[in-house]
Amino acid sequence: MLLNRSERNFPRVIIIGAGFGGVELARQLKNKEVEVLLIDRNNYHTFQPLMYQVATGTLASDSISFPLRKMFKNQSNFRFRLAEVLRIDSKNKIVHTSVADYDYDYLVVATGATSNFFGNKQVEKYALPMKNIIEALNIRSYLLQNLEEAVLRKNTSDRERYLNFVVVGGGPTGVELSGAIAEYQQHMLKKDYPELSTYEMKVFLVEGTGKILGALSEKSSRDAERYLDELGVKTILNTVVTDYDGNTVTLSSGEQIPTKTVIWGAGVMGQMPEGISSDIIERGNRIRINEQCQVEGEKDVYAIGDVSAMITAENPRGLPGVAPVAQQQGKYVAKHILNQLNSQETENFKYFDKGSMATVGRNRAVVDMGSLHMKGFLAWMTWMFVHLVSIFGFRNRLVTFVNWSIKFLTKNSGIRLIIHKYNRPESEPVVKKEEVATH
Ligand SMILES: Cc1cc2nc3c(=O)[nH]c(=O)nc-3n(C[C@H](O)[C@H](O)[C@H](O)COP(=O)(O)OP(=O)(O)OC[C@H]3O[C@@H](n4cnc5c(N)ncnc54)[C@H](O)[C@@H]3O)c2cc1C
Repeated sequence: MLLNRSERNFPRVIIIGAGFGGVELARQLKNKEVEVLLIDRNNYHTFQPLMYQVATGTLASDSISFPLRKMFKNQSNFRFRLAEVLRIDSKNKIVHTSVADYDYDYLVVATGATSNFFGNKQVEKYALPMKNIIEALNIRSYLLQNLEEAVLRKNTSDRERYLNFVVVGGGPTGVELSGAIAEYQQHMLKKDYPELSTYEMKVFLVEGTGKILGALSEKSSRDAERYLDELGVKTILNTVVTDYDGNTVTLSSGEQIPTKTVIWGAGVMGQMPEGISSDIIERGNRIRINEQCQVEGEKDVYAIGDVSAMITAENPRGLPGVAPVAQQQGKYVAKHILNQLNSQETENFKYFDKGSMATVGRNRAVVDMGSLHMKGFLAWMTWMFVHLVSIFGFRNRLVTFVNWSIKFLTKNSGIRLIIHKYNRPESEPVVKKEEVATH
């Protein structure tokens, strides 16, 4: 049972969202004189940077997810509630959820981001986003379902839309995902589907600006583009998707690609419960915070990570939507709350950028750390090491390491399962049943 405000010994900190920011904050409050209540719609934390490996069958979903109650089993001041937070009432200091209402002394909104389709309803209807485990598993199923469908088609032109895979957005997600799909094509397609030819399958990466991996150095961007090219990915720059009817994707250049699969990694926007004033919502649906991570105009409400926008002269667009920002802000807010309780001042938050990296399949990656640039095998090893040590839980690290080792040795990854068939909203059928091959 959770006690009411008047009955508690310690002030209650409610954290909404068990992502990188929320989890780090809760851990920092261990053994402190506060009661921590973490609320999430899932009972697990997800390591999003490896989600593309779930989508492409290298890792199982439970290798990159960690149960929250297990994560905090040794933290006596910690409580968890599995619930959807519906509304924040900061005047009365109450959080309304799908299971109950909870009062707080300090509130931290760490609800992250969701896919942004920039208002294009058609694209939103048919394209596949990848912002959570369920969506990653949908992609895994759908990629395989389309290969199964392709096998059933008699001639090449009928198979084409099942074998064209379009990834939209040239950030790390799009680059890593298109690289992994192309690797599958090169190493496994022929073994799994002897009826299909490697040359029939095509992977496209569509990016709106003039370069992929826009947040990385010019060198890294060029190297990554070359790696994708070596894997057979067709990168299309300075182009956006204007329409998609479920069968054909239309690009701003006028080009049309017949495809059943468009994976959307082109944009994100903050997601948050109701109750935040629209006056403080910035570009990308993010909550404006001051340099102490406090929500503008609110004293005891903070926002951290992808849902927040800390706009300063140094960073007029806010900080990047990456895990280290969320984690560092989580750590900072823990300190800020404890300082507040002791009537102490806290210096403004400063983001320490440790660098950026992305991998483009086996032996290929790019890493930028300050002025240091790495590529190829060394960068790939660095990428693997950094990700391996960052995953929560010894078991998850071990399973991931074993899976990667098997994949490295055999060029084969095993989790090519359609557990839940993905039923996309259906568009007009382009192949009639009688045209399906019976062999
Ligand atoms: C595919 C992918 C790849 C990425 N790769 C990298 C990478 O390589 N490196 C990197 O640094 N960053 C990467 N990122 C970005 C990084 O994952 C995010 O910046 C980071 O997760 C932000 O952390 P957060 O705590 O703000 O939110 P999140 O980690 O998104 O967590 C938000 C949590 O809030 C919960 N939630 C949201 N709304 C509610 C509600 N109303 N009620 C209850 N619960 C709610 C969600 O269930 C979720 O658990 C990637 C992201 C994606 C999607």
